[in-house]
Amino acid sequence: MKSTPPLTQIPADADARKAVGPVICYPVDSLPRVDIAAYRQVRDHLDLVDTVIAAPRDAVTWHVPAGHFFRIICSEGPQVGDLNLFNARDLSERFYSGKTRALNGTHLGVGDQLFSTFPAMRPMATITHDALDWYGFDEFGGAVHDVIGTRCDPYTHNLLSNGGQYHHCCHSNLTRAFAEASGKSLEEAEPFIHDVLNVFMCTGFTRDTGQYFMKASPVRPGDYLEFFAEIDLLGALSACPGGDCGTEHSSDNIACYPLVVEIYKPASLPVGWVAPRVNGYDRSHGA
Ligand SMILES: [Zn+2]
Repeated sequence: MKSTPPLTQIPADADARKAVGPVICYPVDSLPRVDIAAYRQVRDHLDLVDTVIAAPRDAVTWHVPAGHFFRIICSEGPQVGDLNLFNARDLSERFYSGKTRALNGTHLGVGDQLFSTFPAMRPMATITHDALDWYGFDEFGGAVHDVIGTRCDPYTHNLLSNGGQYHHCCHSNLTRAFAEASGKSLEEAEPFIHDVLNVFMCTGFTRDTGQYFMKASPVRPGDYLEFFAEIDLLGALSACPGGDCGTEHSSDNIACYPLVVEIYKPASLPVGWVAPRVNGYDRSHGA
């Protein structure tokens, strides 16, 4: 929080210091980009191999082999989904929301890749279609599919609601679903749950105070976000208790709808595609 007015003396050259232009932290021209046209070409021949459904205020898991696609589909009404991804062969390798944000920006779209945690740090999935790609950034600075929020959780709710207990936040939904899929207890499973990709959620930061905001998702039934699995994945998706996240979350007050996940096998792999290897850093850390 910024103090207004500032507690400190404003320096004489304050305007000049503030006028310095920003520099992109990670220039995208040095980030290897996939040939998205090659990925999209194989979408013409897809066989549906599995369908799972995240019930309202609950989560679901699914497996998708490397080289397959999966779609997260808005089914009955505007609904936000909180997505976790794991390497199905090593659950310690998980989606790294913060680094994905640093590399791709605050909101993801077609051609962006979802990176995994250290030390593997490699693309886990590539976004190949987005029915909301028309949205861009709105007049408030809002956009869809963010990697800036974390996931709604009962701890923050408890902190902000004077000790409230709510059990169907995305964090808890993902914990229950992951525990069931992995055979772990709830206590063992919980630390595996990580910051999410907020699918269909429309968010941004207020320009005056820099606060995280949400607004009703523009998603409508039939819209979907599609991914290509770069490695064998275990996915977990929670249908957020906030529904379209237009008013509140962490409660049972809002209309909430199921989300459908479809897994597809393509007839062929994208031309030139190779499964990403783990990161090339040698891990000696200067020792
Ligand atoms: Zn949520």
